[in-house]
Amino acid sequence: MEALQLLTPRAGLRVLITGGASGIGLAIAKAFVSTGARVHVCDIDGKAVDALASALPAVTGTRANVAEAADVARVFDDVERELGGLDVLINNAGIAGPTGGIDEIDPADWEKTVDVNLNSHFQFARRAVPLLRQAPDGGVMVFMSSVAGRLGYGFRTPYSATKWALVGLAKSLAIELGPDNIRVNAVQPGIVKGPRMEGVIAARAKQLGLSYEEMEARYLEKISLRRMVTQEEIAASVLFLSSPAGSAISGQALSVCRNVETL
Ligand code: NAD
Repeated sequence: MEALQLLTPRAGLRVLITGGASGIGLAIAKAFVSTGARVHVCDIDGKAVDALASALPAVTGTRANVAEAADVARVFDDVERELGGLDVLINNAGIAGPTGGIDEIDPADWEKTVDVNLNSHFQFARRAVPLLRQAPDGGVMVFMSSVAGRLGYGFRTPYSATKWALVGLAKSLAIELGPDNIRVNAVQPGIVKGPRMEGVIAARAKQLGLSYEEMEARYLEKISLRRMVTQEEIAASVLFLSSPAGSAISGQALSVCRNVETL
């Protein structure tokens, strides 16, 4: 196959994206649709799910809280009905979690972050595997980790701990599922331009008594290329991992961050 063909995922791939109705998940959904994929998204924001499904005919959706086991079961009922199987699972849903010192963090906020960012990914992976084993070209699973899953991130301990855990989950599942022709990788976005990052910068600025602009400049200084990454660039890395060009890649954590060396 030509290099260009290798870089394009096969048309008709059946893709499930968690937290897929906005942000990075939405960018991934649009990218897959542009390659002729059929995409099912789940998201806690039912209005955003409905808006996406009416805007893009190749997308179906389920309103679901990924941290609720009953909702996860409903998502897979819908996936089997809408897609009739699964080739690619993108475990993308995640929340920022609380900002604060370890002695200030409310245990309920810690638990919620672990439920959404880690436990849900286990729930989706365990239900997806029987379907991915049937994928004609082999199954693909991607976990959305973070630069905070390869560097320490003071005052964001629940977030960082869950994002490191996803790398362990991806690398271990890659070993476990390789013989079933299922590839498993993690993607580690850096500082991504968009509303979520704006919220993170604002929370940290407030904590340190700085203006938003001062805090944003401090974040940019941590990036060698002095620019944030875009949602589309993260989506492109996910397409690459799901394409034939990615067929030799499993058990890896891929940084897409313009070289962030410290947080
Ligand atoms: P976002 O907050 O913009 O979007 C997340 C989506 O997930 C939203 O549509 C939201 O409704 C949904 N969601 C949240 N909680 C949910 C739940 N319990 N059940 C179902 N859906 C839920 O976030 P984003 O920036 O698009 O981030 C996507 C992923 O990328 C996350 O895992 C995040 O940790 C990771 N990430 C983001 C950045 C960044 O700078 N934005 C950097 C590194 C990693």
